[in-house]
Amino acid sequence: MKIFEILGKAITSMSAIIFVLAMVVASGTFFSHTLFYEVFPSGMTEWEKSIATWTLACAWELTVLLTTVNTNYIGKKIPIAMAVCSGLIILLFLHGFDGGLSLLDYFKRFFIGILVAYINIVFSSLFLSAWQESRREKTAEEKLKELELLHEEQTRELVKTKSELDQSKKDFDQLFLLTEELEKFKKMELEKLICPHCNQPQKSVFHLSSHKALCNAKQQRNEN
Ligand SMILES: [Zn+2]
Repeated sequence: MKIFEILGKAITSMSAIIFVLAMVVASGTFFSHTLFYEVFPSGMTEWEKSIATWTLACAWELTVLLTTVNTNYIGKKIPIAMAVCSGLIILLFLHGFDGGLSLLDYFKRFFIGILVAYINIVFSSLFLSAWQESRREKTAEEKLKELELLHEEQTRELVKTKSELDQSKKDFDQLFLLTEELEKFKKMELEKLICPHCNQPQKSVFHLSSHKALCNAKQQRNEN
């Protein structure tokens, strides 16, 4: 079943249209070349005539191809005119306008001519819509990719911010512990400056020792 899926994708792709267009151009080159060769002046030398007819045939078919694929720039009328010309070339190539042919022969030749013109007309609109759709798909894909990249970037930033937040929390906890220790130390140091007799805090160790010598509470206790 997978093979049908691949086949389906292949025949509906842009490449399939380009492939068929290339085949139409390739076959058209031979038809145009033969026709040009027939009508080019017989006075030309063989190599001149060959080169001129081949290059002109290629130029003509490439013009048909380019107008077919650029319908969005030049409108629909020119590709249709080119397609009709392609059909006429085929008709001339098949001697569709010669006299003395049976009705069936004329029908066959005109049918092929109209068919080639029709293929060109169909492809001019088919190519345009397929091309526009593939462009749209590409734009949507690009947009999706852009959004995915943005999402990835934002996720990365979020992870980074989260880790920074965790680190800050750790730092804060550590700071809190340090502050607690510092407070304890400060309390201990302040306790060392309290006079053991009257329980009054002193400014420094020197103040304490001079205060202790003169402390009223101590003297009163001694007197008792
Ligand atoms: Zn005291």
